[in-house]
Amino acid sequence: MKWDIKDIKTWSPEKHLPGSTIPESGNTRYYNTGSWRTDRPLRDTEKCTQCLACYFYCPDCSVLVEDQKVVAFDYGHCKGCGICAAECPADAITMHPETDFRGRE
Ligand code: SF4
Ligand code: SF4
Repeated sequence: MKWDIKDIKTWSPEKHLPGSTIPESGNTRYYNTGSWRTDRPLRDTEKCTQCLACYFYCPDCSVLVEDQKVVAFDYGHCKGCGICAAECPADAITMHPETDFRGRE
């Protein structure tokens, strides 16, 4: 179902359901949900065997694949859960505190 949200900015709190309003599927592209990540995955391209396990296990579709190969993480949406690092059979992914990157981007 797709809602008519043309006037959403005028909605009162009563019109929003408890929690939040998700007016259509696929709307995470509008939100930088990776902004509250505390740890960031990094992939060692030398160790990576391109098995794609990280891609299949990531609950946020944040492992980016092109031509059937992992090419990057989508840090705009990766929440830093570490599942990719835990499941990587080659130990190619390590988690690092976001504070290590502060001021370097
Ligand atoms: S799970 Fe590990 S070895 Fe497999 S593609 Fe991802 S990083 Fe590479
Ligand atoms: S840390 Fe979690 S959300 Fe981020 S890429 Fe790995 S599995 Fe996906």
